[in-house]
Amino acid sequence: MILDIDFIIFSSLMVACLIPLYIYREKIFSPKRVNNNDFRLFLKDLKLYMQKNHPKIDFDYSIVEKTKSEVNSEIRESLIVEDIVNQFFNYTYLVKTQNGFSREKHWINYEEKSKSNAKYPSDWMLRKEFAWKRDNKCCNRCGNILNLDETHTSFVKDIKDGGGYNLENIVSLCIDCNKIINSTNPKNTISSLVLNDKLMVFVK
Ligand SMILES: [Zn+2]
Repeated sequence: MILDIDFIIFSSLMVACLIPLYIYREKIFSPKRVNNNDFRLFLKDLKLYMQKNHPKIDFDYSIVEKTKSEVNSEIRESLIVEDIVNQFFNYTYLVKTQNGFSREKHWINYEEKSKSNAKYPSDWMLRKEFAWKRDNKCCNRCGNILNLDETHTSFVKDIKDGGGYNLENIVSLCIDCNKIINSTNPKNTISSLVLNDKLMVFVK
């Protein structure tokens, strides 16, 4: 029997492609099984991180039990991270009037520049810094410790609704909480949160 040359080349290529698949079959086809020690470490790191960086939010870890049957550690840990990020997003934050400071400590034109105005007052940076210090240099929503230059701000009563630039109306927020309170598309906001990247580092 004379074999067609094309058929021989094609068959040889097919065999060549299957060899690595055979050699690495275990790595390719066996899921990364849950290693209890690694998983315990992941959970410990995750809980410590959330407690340290977002102490104002009480997280529910019942997802750990719910994902018990998942044998692939990467999938299980990713599901846990996803649940924690969703809880972070869904946390109900009641923005309320903050402390100000006594009139004697007001600077010149403080009252005048506190009035509602579409344009930020010229002393805005000073106001932002005062609010940041009053908020213990933390995000008012989640408790994340912030540098002044990474601090975002929000207003208890929005400026467009007549709210002013007085300190009682200003709150300090972290980048993620600022995104969340201004979110118009939950799905997009959740996927854009910095918290996703921070927590995925713990997934083994
Ligand atoms: Zn925050």
